Amino acid sequence: MCGIIGIFGTDNAANMAALGLFAEQHRGQESCGMAVSDGLVIRLRKKMGLVKEVFSDDRLSELPGTIAIGHVRYPTKGSATEFNTQPHLVETLAGPTYALASNGDLVNYASIRKHLEAQNVYFKSDNDGELLVKYLAYRIIHHGDEISEAIRNLMKEVKGAYSCVLCTRTELYMFRDPLSIRPMVWGIAPDGAVVVASESCSLDTLDVVDRHEVPPAGIIRISKGQGNRDAGTTLERCNDILVIENDPNLYRNSGTEKHCIFEHIYFSRPDSHHFGEDVYRVRESIGAILAKNDEGLNPDLIVPVPDSSNFIGLGYATASKVPLSLGLIRNHYIGRTFIKPEQTIRDESVRQKFNVLPNFFKDKKIVLVDDSIVRGTTIRKIVKLIKNAGAAEIHLRIGSPQVCHSCYYGIDTPDAGELVANCFSLEEIRSKIGVDSLKHINIGDLRSCVQKPDNYCDACFTGDYPLGEPT
Ligand code: SF4
Repeated sequence: MCGIIGIFGTDNAANMAALGLFAEQHRGQESCGMAVSDGLVIRLRKKMGLVKEVFSDDRLSELPGTIAIGHVRYPTKGSATEFNTQPHLVETLAGPTYALASNGDLVNYASIRKHLEAQNVYFKSDNDGELLVKYLAYRIIHHGDEISEAIRNLMKEVKGAYSCVLCTRTELYMFRDPLSIRPMVWGIAPDGAVVVASESCSLDTLDVVDRHEVPPAGIIRISKGQGNRDAGTTLERCNDILVIENDPNLYRNSGTEKHCIFEHIYFSRPDSHHFGEDVYRVRESIGAILAKNDEGLNPDLIVPVPDSSNFIGLGYATASKVPLSLGLIRNHYIGRTFIKPEQTIRDESVRQKFNVLPNFFKDKKIVLVDDSIVRGTTIRKIVKLIKNAGAAEIHLRIGSPQVCHSCYYGIDTPDAGELVANCFSLEEIRSKIGVDSLKHINIGDLRSCVQKPDNYCDACFTGDYPLGEPT
């Protein structure tokens, strides 16, 4: 999982990109980067570390320009090294010419890379973003494609999830895979700059209005100048030419999008809106269904695992009329447990991350609400904490079905053997975690929480991969 940002048409591009990336820090904490063009030169800075560490005021002042793209990375494909950080540049004889940042994973990476290497295209990393920008440069330089044409060819050949921003020295492009698996939204900032981001919480930070989702297989090109803006947009405050291109052969009509449903359950911030849904409302609906399926349980307290389960817990509490209690406290300075790449780091960080309120749980019957069980690492330790605090009963409720299959479209569950639901029965998992009862929402109930359930990928629960598995 990663986050992207693109800014066009303001002297403040690097600062705005840093603010936007900061709002998306939850999507990746291993590394971040930014490429900024002043019309003549594209400058790049990317490092391991958090946005606030990598982009201090001094560093931002070294990135003048009116076009910026940026990225926060959580490694899925390729190791957590600086080589694999984004954006990726393509340099020609005239210097850096294209920079690209992407969110998502490709399923035919190996065959596309093999094809490009056979044409003497050189790779510095194992990262999908580099493959995408090298593919585009190859089409442009060796086949004479215009950039949009190269992107259309990419959409025909490259399979996978990719929400991308591409900058040249003078233009910004945003484009998205035909199934629009990962979120991607854009709009206009108060100073007329165009802003594109993975999540709308990033647009909020920049006071962006006139919001739109990038359409499936959509290509949006933004150039400086005056002229006709594309019909169907309301860009009165935008100073730039904006062209939206959709290839009808690639965009296969509403109903064939396959957005990641896990974005609603866990990955996205609750204050974001995408795929036509308010994320927090989906989570509240999940909680309400969990409560409905628990009639007669009569707990004393509903305790969500903060922060991603707060709204599922709230939905449960509202529907059951049992108070929501914030008895579990999270240290906000340690990051997200699930997205720490190494298991050892993950184990250590769970205990540092959570604590319980003193004199709170004793003799209480608790419904503990969590969003998912992937490896089972976090929840086992949390249950132990609550038990040690004296809880009489713990009933664990999970806001997703059992995760039985790996994700190949941008989430780090590469090995099915790491998924606890793949290795043990539900009863065995309940016993290992040490709770009195364990229930997940079922797939039918989860689908009822979104308006267009057929427009979602749910392969990690069902094994029904809309683009197949990696080749
Ligand atoms: S497999 Fe799961 S995590 Fe991956 S895109 Fe599909 S729903 Fe999302």
